[in-house]
Amino acid sequence: MEAFISEIFCSLQMEGSFIGYPAAFIRFAGCNLNCDFCDTKYALVPKNTKRDDEIYKIISEFNTDRVIFTGGEPALYDDFMSYFIDKYGNYIYFLETNGTIFIKKSIKKFKHIVVSPKFFSINEEALNRYKRLSNSVEFKFVINDESEIEKVQILSDKLDLYPLTLQPLFDNAQPVEKYVKKTKMLIEAFKNSNLARKEARLIMQNHKVIYGKQRGV
Ligand code: SF4
Repeated sequence: MEAFISEIFCSLQMEGSFIGYPAAFIRFAGCNLNCDFCDTKYALVPKNTKRDDEIYKIISEFNTDRVIFTGGEPALYDDFMSYFIDKYGNYIYFLETNGTIFIKKSIKKFKHIVVSPKFFSINEEALNRYKRLSNSVEFKFVINDESEIEKVQILSDKLDLYPLTLQPLFDNAQPVEKYVKKTKMLIEAFKNSNLARKEARLIMQNHKVIYGKQRGV
């Protein structure tokens, strides 16, 4: 079976409940959204396909038994992910998705799913199904200012999007010091918000701080 693939690499999981674990990242090409702040614009246009056995050969050379399907938007490839996981059962599988498309075939095959909803494209039904039907799920919101903490709280209370992680948006064009300053401000706002007493936490965008725009890491 084939899928449009942007890149395959081995790195550390830099966010979420499984932060710090080495994993093979399989980045699908193509997305149903086009966010201004997208840091993988190069993966939005599908160009090259790879067969499942070619992908397996690449990840077999990495020193890890974890696989993360990311994008682009992996939910566009539900059939492929389901097929791949069934065929190559010697890995533990994770998913990163924007939560606008529900995956019927592969949903139960992931150990853990990170859903990252975007305020401008909330699909309440899909989010509800991820919440109810995943083996394990968390929700991640990228925030840019204090007002968005309250927006996250209102949406998450309404749809029960817990546990959740807030991530201050890192802008590659700006110096890291500016990001640290912004994060400190958002930490204070978070500590004083209603989210502080819920299953919510704040983590920096570690991967971007360490690697910037570098790809394949
Ligand atoms: S949903 Fe993710 S991959 Fe798609 S455009 Fe937005 S940030 Fe980029």
